[in-house]
Amino acid sequence: MNPTIAYDEYVLHTANRSLTLLHGQGATVFDDKNRPYLDFGTGIAVSCLGHDHPALAEVYARQSRRLIHCSNLYRNEHAGALAERLVGLLGPGKIFYSNSGAEANEGLIKAARLFGKDRGAFEIVCTKDSFHGRTMATLSATGQEKVQAGFAPLVPGFVHVPYNDLEAVRAAITPRTAAVLIEGIQGESGILPADPEYLLGLRALTREKNVLLFIDAIQCGHFRTGAYQSFQRILGERAAEFRPDGLSMAKSLGGGFPIGAFWLDERLAPLFTVGSHNTTYGGSPLGTAVAGAVLDVIEREGLAANVRARGEELLSGLRALQGKHGGLVAGVRGFGALVGLQLAAEPAQAMPHFLEAGLLVVPAGNKTVRYLPPYNVTAAEVADALARTDAALAKLAAAA
Ligand code: PLP
Repeated sequence: MNPTIAYDEYVLHTANRSLTLLHGQGATVFDDKNRPYLDFGTGIAVSCLGHDHPALAEVYARQSRRLIHCSNLYRNEHAGALAERLVGLLGPGKIFYSNSGAEANEGLIKAARLFGKDRGAFEIVCTKDSFHGRTMATLSATGQEKVQAGFAPLVPGFVHVPYNDLEAVRAAITPRTAAVLIEGIQGESGILPADPEYLLGLRALTREKNVLLFIDAIQCGHFRTGAYQSFQRILGERAAEFRPDGLSMAKSLGGGFPIGAFWLDERLAPLFTVGSHNTTYGGSPLGTAVAGAVLDVIEREGLAANVRARGEELLSGLRALQGKHGGLVAGVRGFGALVGLQLAAEPAQAMPHFLEAGLLVVPAGNKTVRYLPPYNVTAAEVADALARTDAALAKLAAAA
């Protein structure tokens, strides 16, 4: 059977799928008609080294012949070294490996429960318009009714306050509160960054109240903003004043391999003991070898600097297009390879025009389309994406 027909016949219809993608090279992917698309979606902020990267192909081949899986009943040769590097980037503590972002957040939620259990504290203060995943606990943590619709009763213990509103968090903290969980930049709701004062204020407030501060860095972390973490990019020189108590990661961590992780500060790491948490696949030799190779390439090729430079070109180019197509574009936001173009209309109307222009971008909330290019994107590819955006916006204007 034709792959498109088989997919639509037998795979649950949980997304509107317009393309069947077969292969990719660098920042370009090809569909089943061999039509190329410039990939500024990277599989929702995942394929951070683009497609068919030789260093990743090599490590997949080598490790798959050596040992793909052994469960975490045993150590393997890559998971410890990767954890050491992540701890080196984040601060003293420990890593737990999961297979997805939602599972990484589940780990943080369980850490909050363990932290608060002796004093009856279990609530987590989350924010409106956040996105933390699709499992029952993480959709309950998510501050969006459309994600929760139909799944009541939700997991108890989550309260939601407006993002970037420190006083709302202060008012929501009670003796039942164990943690505060925020995204450094809200991604799914349209690339909304935390204010520097909000981050620093949350750090001081949670310390004062003996409540944990967790960052969901699944979309905005791992160099997507051009710094290792979004809060480092947002805080700049003041970043040393801010370290969360726990952080979740996935997406770019594996560059396409499904691996997630959470980091816990050294004070919290002993909360988990033998038997309290586990997963069959997490931290496999293959997954951690690939994630290690992703980090190697980012460091060796200076990709954080490339993300910052290309991000400036993308932001300034999109702002120029905002000037040109004034009525269609409401705003341009973001950092590095996490940029949002806010439209006046719903992105659903614009998406066909982006596709026709041969550009993959990802719709988000707040009428925003996301530009999530690979970290090794070139200046020429950014210019190409801007030209295609210009064409898509012109078509959108003509259709209005
Ligand atoms: N948290 C954030 C901020 C995300 O953007 C996502 C996915 O988009 C998730 C959690 C869930 O990750 P996953 O889809 O890997 O479960």
